[in-house]
Amino acid sequence: MSDAILVLNAGSSSVKYAIFGAAPGADALTHGQIDRIGQGAVWHPEDHPAEPLPLPHDAGHKPVLTWLTDRLRADASDLNVVAAGHRVVHGGRDFGEPCVVTPAVLDGIRALSPLAPGHQPHNIAGIEALQTVWPDIPQVACFDTAFHRTQPRLAQLFALPRALTDEGVLRYGFHGLSYDYIASQLPSVLGARAEGRVIVMHLGNGASACAMVNRHSVATTMGFTALDGLMMGTRCGDIDPGVLIHLQRTHGYDADGLETLLGKHSGLKGVSELSSDMRDLLASKTPEAAEAVALFAYRASLSVGSLAAAMGGLDALVFTAGIGEHSAEVRALVADRCGWLGLSIDADANDRHQTLFHTAESAVAAAVIPTNEELVIANRTRTLVAAG
Ligand code: AMP
Repeated sequence: MSDAILVLNAGSSSVKYAIFGAAPGADALTHGQIDRIGQGAVWHPEDHPAEPLPLPHDAGHKPVLTWLTDRLRADASDLNVVAAGHRVVHGGRDFGEPCVVTPAVLDGIRALSPLAPGHQPHNIAGIEALQTVWPDIPQVACFDTAFHRTQPRLAQLFALPRALTDEGVLRYGFHGLSYDYIASQLPSVLGARAEGRVIVMHLGNGASACAMVNRHSVATTMGFTALDGLMMGTRCGDIDPGVLIHLQRTHGYDADGLETLLGKHSGLKGVSELSSDMRDLLASKTPEAAEAVALFAYRASLSVGSLAAAMGGLDALVFTAGIGEHSAEVRALVADRCGWLGLSIDADANDRHQTLFHTAESAVAAAVIPTNEELVIANRTRTLVAAG
């Protein structure tokens, strides 16, 4: 039996999973994804990605994770699973590095749930589901916030009274595992420019952008929670806090109501009144869908300007995640607004999803790099388990 590492990446409405060989650098043996949890979950196993299979039970993340872990135990019956790694969205101030999950660590992760209510409970459910099925293996938590802990203090501060800052009301940033993977790929894609001023745009159902210098995060668009920054599938992104006060005073919203409005009914879904899925909007002919796409790209381009200011210029713009990797149209809409920074893209190369798609004259490189959060989790888990 060969040794293997199991990886779970539980998101707000999906769970990605992979099994890797335990040896350093070993590839994924299998991987897959369950989508639309809570709305008729479907399973995309690796061998039938185009033909999703409906799941028998879909009463939320917990039963889906229980089903998945039982299934993985059956699939891995000829493997010796020696460790598991998890994406955990919020590490707060205390978790700046991956760590082995002990009862105290799990309590710390639970205590951060109010800061990421749409994700953290699902990450915890994944850890608990594996504790039941593989009670004796070490589990490693890899935090989405950790990559941003290198940011200068000014990038982490809100202009709030100091007492709130001291209590941890800070800009943490998210999508760190994706940025970590992209940072590892930059040298092979960008050469010497990799160590310069790079903005990575993670444009998926959740979306954010990260400014990197020397492949370290110096600023990012998400803040205290994953609601901040870019417009997303169902999340509003940047918003005047005065709107929240207005909604409380005149529409009777409380905290839970605001969380649902800003987190589940806004973004592409709210503006288009059609769908949170970029593919549906690009295929639609309604003016509302077109406006949602235009607003998404407009606001993403504003963030490029802001992050370039944080770095004093820009050497490369990199796109990743579902929309960033697959939609040449959205990449062009964002990049065309960045001409003032010296970026000019080759439309044909972009349409062909070529890794580098800037013109020869462009002062700024444009690239598309598929992300791989599961590989980062597997590598961190291998390192920690090997250390002992
Ligand atoms: P992710 O959260 O990274 O899985 O990305 C999900 C988002 O990527 C959804 O909005 C999808 O509509 C979008 N997406 C996936 N494939 C495509 C595509 N070919 N064209 C446009 N958007 C896409």
